[in-house]
Amino acid sequence: MQYLIIGASAAGINAAKTLRNLDKDSEITIISKDDSVYSRCMLHRALDGSRTLKELSFIEEDFFEKYNINWIKNAAVSNIDIDNKKVLVEDKTSYKFDKLLIASGASSFIPPVKNLREAKGVYSLRNFEDVTAIENTLKNAKNVVILGAGLVGVDAVLGIMRKNIKISIVEMGDRLLPLQLDKKASSIYEKLLKEKNIDLFTSVKLEEVILNESGYAHKAVLSDSTTLDCDMIIVAAGVRPNINFIKDNMIKVEKGIVVDKYCKTNAPDIYAAGDVTFTAPIWPIAVKQGITAAFNMSGNNKDLTDNFGMKNSMNLLGLECVSLGNVNPPDNTYDVDIIEGQGIYKKIIHKDGIIYGALLIGDISYCGVLGELIKNKINIEHIHKNIFDIDYSDFYNVDLDGQYNYKLVSK
Ligand SMILES: Cc1cc2nc3c(=O)[nH]c(=O)nc-3n(C[C@H](O)[C@H](O)[C@H](O)COP(=O)(O)OP(=O)(O)OC[C@H]3O[C@@H](n4cnc5c(N)ncnc54)[C@H](O)[C@@H]3O)c2cc1C
Repeated sequence: MQYLIIGASAAGINAAKTLRNLDKDSEITIISKDDSVYSRCMLHRALDGSRTLKELSFIEEDFFEKYNINWIKNAAVSNIDIDNKKVLVEDKTSYKFDKLLIASGASSFIPPVKNLREAKGVYSLRNFEDVTAIENTLKNAKNVVILGAGLVGVDAVLGIMRKNIKISIVEMGDRLLPLQLDKKASSIYEKLLKEKNIDLFTSVKLEEVILNESGYAHKAVLSDSTTLDCDMIIVAAGVRPNINFIKDNMIKVEKGIVVDKYCKTNAPDIYAAGDVTFTAPIWPIAVKQGITAAFNMSGNNKDLTDNFGMKNSMNLLGLECVSLGNVNPPDNTYDVDIIEGQGIYKKIIHKDGIIYGALLIGDISYCGVLGELIKNKINIEHIHKNIFDIDYSDFYNVDLDGQYNYKLVSK
């Protein structure tokens, strides 16, 4: 059996390792544009100089030898010949497969704003090469505009925060981290940003980039006519799946490649996992999908049981935060419990005994149990205590053999 994997990141690497554990003899090959394996979640640590590329790696140094995996690096796939079961690379080489996994991830989206795509000095933060390019321009930059205040935008801020650099964040939504925070939580972090001389412009769009005579971004004009000086723009305005090698609609694509619960596409013997499926573009989901695909590619039946992607923990400017599920109630039929004070802000959203979301800032205790209750929609109506104090012991069960266990179940 010949397994072929496109992509050497969260989904691809975990799929390859799982395949090898399940199948000792078959040939496993990974093809990737990347020439190193690293965690994209840690790119800001390379940007702030606290880690080298090598220190961003999430695999053992001898990973490819240890698991007997061929790695074709620096190779961009340009087409898939589904009928002849071949993957074609830009340099005209081709690789045969019996089972193929597409784990090609996603790329940053540069919105069609006037001059943004043409301007020099405009970057995104997705690949290690972006870090190098940003670092080079940053040496002579005084004003940086960051487009987007989501997780990647915030990582960019953390990565480039320097004493002599003025950062302005531009966000279309009405707050920082619109998917993870509510207005109150955002205002707590906005205060911390202000203390670092970082401005946040919310509910506005970037309308135009004014270029200098050399074609570099020079000013950013916002939809409310505010004009910001800039020597550099970092765009963190979402991602799009890497699917340009899928031609003639041979594989079904909606927002990303469409897969079933086995991570299988509609094409025979072709699977997909990670950001390219656009299920939830986060690391743990990419890993889980890669592993699930590997089981099914090797004939070991496995369902993708959990795609829960609304879980984020971060430590932003020294203040820790865990955001779980939906932190803003969809309508007023939901109950919202809040605790505030002494550097703490905690909020739980629930309805008819089911918790739908939680936001914990400054005190993240019980976040583990809350995550499980939200993910599994466990009914807590039978627990008569403060909702913020529910812990695993409230779910004690006694086994037939008299042992305690913590099965989280609705009573
Ligand atoms: C700055 C940043 C911060 C993040 N922070 C977090 C976080 O805190 N928590 C979290 O859960 N997630 C975070 N993420 C998201 C997380 O990194 C992604 O969900 C994860 O990397 C997805 O893994 P993947 O394997 O699907 O794809 P990717 O990591 O995108 O890797 C795609 C692979 O495919 C290869 N490839 C692409 N096109 C081709 C081609 N044509 N031919 C050959 N190879 C190709 C690439 O070289 C690469 O090896 C962050 C992402 C970024 C950019």
